[in-house]
This record gives sequence, structure tokens and C-alpha cells, in this order.
Amino acid sequence: MFFFSFDVVFKEVPGEVSLCFSICGCPLQCKGCHSPYLFKKENGKFLDDDFYQKTLIDYQKYATCVLFMGGEWEKQELLSKLKIAKMLNYKTCLYSGLEDIDSEILAHLDWVKTGAWKDKLGGLDKKTTNQIFKNVKTGEVLNHLFQ
Ligand code: SF4
Repeated sequence: MFFFSFDVVFKEVPGEVSLCFSICGCPLQCKGCHSPYLFKKENGKFLDDDFYQKTLIDYQKYATCVLFMGGEWEKQELLSKLKIAKMLNYKTCLYSGLEDIDSEILAHLDWVKTGAWKDKLGGLDKKTTNQIFKNVKTGEVLNHLFQ
């Protein structure tokens, strides 16, 4: 699994301070994508377990959630990373452009954002959006927290 960037973010998962890894190799190539540099896997650096685990340990006192922007196309690697996050007591979230997420991945997530980017409909902050942000365990749709 290759990542383009690592950031600490505050809005993407409401109420959480999230460690956000943006994963390269997105196969969806949505028209109007704001992050086309994520299309090519080669644009990223290998996310090795040592760096990943050390980063999560370093931020353990400050952050509460680990967020993956994509990566569902590398299921086993994503599962392994989510298990490490859970082992270190982080909550977990995935932002995906897909409508349906693999059930094994869902089992290791607290929140998920689904739906491709569609220019005309906008993102989670728009009432017209096709995208859905929900609590995986309860199924509750939480888009209102972004609007
Ligand atoms: S899923 Fe996200 S990163 Fe992938 S093409 Fe669509 S908008 Fe871009």
C-alpha cells in the first residue's frame, strides 16, 4: 500500500482528531476528482508497518481516530492497518468512492463515507450529495454533521 500524504485532520470525522493517510492507486478516477495525484500508485511512498505503527504511537495522546482516504482496493493491507489501529485503541474510518464496502473491511471500521465524487451533486456539506457518511455499527447516516 502506497500513501501520498499523512495529515492530522479535524473535520473529516466529526468530533475526532484523525490521523489521515491518503492512499495512491485509486481505480475509480471520478470526473472532477480533487486529488488526481492519487490515481497512480507510483505517486506514493510505501506505507510500511514500522512507520505506520510508530506514527500511531507518537500521536496516541492527541489523536483518536485513524482515517484512510481510499485503500479498499488493497483489502489485505488495509485490513492489516486497521487491525493495528484498533490494537492501539484508535477508532477507524474509511473514505471510499464505492457504494458498497467489503464486509470484512466494514467489521474493522467505526465510520465510513461512501459514494463517488459527482461535481453536480457536491460533497458531504451539500444536501444534494450522493455521498453518505455513516456510523458502521448503528447504520446511522450522519451527513447532517457536515451541513
Ligand atoms: S474516489 Fe476519491 S480519490 Fe478516487 S477518483 Fe473518486 S474522488 Fe478521486
